[in-house]
Amino acid sequence: MLKELQNLVWIEKKITAEILEKLQEVYDNKDFAGYTNLFEYMVKGLGYSEATASLRQSCLKLIREMPELKVKVSEGKLSYTTLARSYKFIKDQSTEAKRATLSTLENQSSRKALEILEKQSLAPEIKVHKRCYQDKVRITIDLSHEEYERLQRLKALSSHAHENYEKLIKALIHTAHKKYENTHFKQHKSKNPRYIPQRLRNHLLKQAKYRCQYPGCMQDHYLQIDHIQPLAKDGRSTPDNLQVLCHHHNQQKACSH
Ligand SMILES: [Zn+2]
Repeated sequence: MLKELQNLVWIEKKITAEILEKLQEVYDNKDFAGYTNLFEYMVKGLGYSEATASLRQSCLKLIREMPELKVKVSEGKLSYTTLARSYKFIKDQSTEAKRATLSTLENQSSRKALEILEKQSLAPEIKVHKRCYQDKVRITIDLSHEEYERLQRLKALSSHAHENYEKLIKALIHTAHKKYENTHFKQHKSKNPRYIPQRLRNHLLKQAKYRCQYPGCMQDHYLQIDHIQPLAKDGRSTPDNLQVLCHHHNQQKACSH
């Protein structure tokens, strides 16, 4: 019985993925079978409850914005439930901020993911005011009490090295930056040839200045990692064979093959 149940759940997951794939097509083609929008189509045309339709729509919006999420779901790192629930928390964030939030939810149960999201949304938003001068930039930043206490502790711990906040913060920027620059790319054990490790992905995006690398295209949304020599033609998932393309140019390239 348990084995049967497990099998059914597996089928359920597979069907959900297939349904979303089809809904994505409907969404992209804007053909809602006579209904005014996808939501109405899902409720009136397909008979979904409004709650389910809304969750499905949330997933679609996120996947459309960050196509790599589909891979994460298929790898089991994120579930559709987690994606759908996270939507209302992150919908107003920039794509990069959304990515950052979603990465903290990877490999978490959807219950735990909700906890994380709720905790984050309670945290006061950090405000930064920036003023540019010819030779420097002055920023003032609002920290929560908790963050300020942490900063104080950091300063106390490293007091011999950084006698004031200014030096401490500069040192922190330096260390964080260095850590980022020193990213090494280990050969990944994943059997999936499409798999591109997150660090490599980040590196490629950064190298591309978070923009599409198609000549003349400045798109900074809906970015995808593209295999210059396609996998089907023995291209590999190595840095020299990867580039960042926007959804549009990736599609265009796919069509030209
Ligand atoms: Zn482009």
